[in-house]
Amino acid sequence: MDTSVFIALMNPGMSLVFAATFFLLWRHQRQQRYIALLSASFVAIAGGFLLQYFTIYSVPISKLLSNLLFLAGGVGFAIGGLGRFERRPPVASTAFFATAGISAFTWFLFVDPDITKRIYAINFAFGAITLIMAAELRRAHERRFVDNLLLGLLVFYGISFFVRPVAVIWIDGPYQSYENFHQSLYWITLTFSASMFLLIFALCLITAITLELMDDLRRESQTDPLSGLLNRRGFEEGVAEALRTARRRHMEGVLIFCDLDHFKTVNDTYGHAAGDRVIKTFAECLHGCVGPNHVVGRIGGEEFAIFLRGIDLRAGRLFAEGVRAAFGALCVPGLPEELRCTASFGVAEWREGETATELFIRADRALYDAKAAGRDRVRVDRRKAAPEVRDGPLLTAEA
Ligand code: GH3
Ligand code: MG
Ligand code: MG
Repeated sequence: MDTSVFIALMNPGMSLVFAATFFLLWRHQRQQRYIALLSASFVAIAGGFLLQYFTIYSVPISKLLSNLLFLAGGVGFAIGGLGRFERRPPVASTAFFATAGISAFTWFLFVDPDITKRIYAINFAFGAITLIMAAELRRAHERRFVDNLLLGLLVFYGISFFVRPVAVIWIDGPYQSYENFHQSLYWITLTFSASMFLLIFALCLITAITLELMDDLRRESQTDPLSGLLNRRGFEEGVAEALRTARRRHMEGVLIFCDLDHFKTVNDTYGHAAGDRVIKTFAECLHGCVGPNHVVGRIGGEEFAIFLRGIDLRAGRLFAEGVRAAFGALCVPGLPEELRCTASFGVAEWREGETATELFIRADRALYDAKAAGRDRVRVDRRKAAPEVRDGPLLTAEA
């Protein structure tokens, strides 16, 4: 293949591949409109490069259209790249620099033709837009490693849009006409730096979007859809993580098992949908009582569990009593107003050296005691040790 054709097609080709990649990513998460904007921006950049090589109507019109597409793509990158952080995109400032850049470009194209000034106008506008995006990204919280990489890339390229044209024109310029322009040092450095930027920019964003997608899937696989609490798997993982921290920092912790009383009767009398509403009401009650630091899950049909970090047995018991009283006073939507549902609670304090399985068994035993003592009450496990169970699933016994 002729080298010049290869170079001519490299950036538009790569941009179209990334446009297709972002389009496919967007099809899997249509609510994330910024991904569609990134795809459209890559199409604009591809069009901008193609118009540098293939003339439509006349050379000046093609150059103007090409740079309009470049700027539209640049603004789209800035807004789309920040879309992940749910920050208000810097529309006004980017639009200002894009308009100023294209106005100056048009002036030096039709009114006072000067290639060098056109190069400065469009590069400086790009530099400003890139640095605005970098500044906005710096303000965003919850940046991952890949976002910091993107930030570094934006700062480097933002500055390069000022330094590169000045240095190149100082060495190679000024340029008087478009003759052999595509062999000029300016165009070669621009093509190379643009392809590097497009490649790294796209890879950073694809990585970030994929990681977010994986996080969402993991969260979904650990969430119970009816109650919105953690499901059994999520709860077990949450407790395992909490116990690792407790061991490392010698912290206290309390596990509480809860089970709705006579729930089968509620189902049999008022129907399964009414039973579901009782589960939801209890979950909301738990959610309202437990801070974000603790682990709360629905680990079975009408069975729930809470792990309170940094809390001792006394406080854990008081907490369980509070939830019991709060739930016992609640009226469940759709059930007779005078009907009150209740739950029983088993509380066990984590002991240093104890495995999660042993702790779960002790909380379960306390819950069994609460049921045996008549339900609607809290029981605490004070026995010395759990029966000998070392391995196997954490939750083995029915509450
Ligand atoms: P106890 O006081 O001893 O706990 O009695 P119980 O009736 O609450 O306990 P049991 O284990 O006999 O019955 C639990 C019932 O929970 C049986 C099952 O149909 C119902 N259940 C399990 N999952 C769901 C659910 O997601 N929705 C509804 N509505 N019911 C469920
Ligand atoms: Mg029950
Ligand atoms: Mg049960």
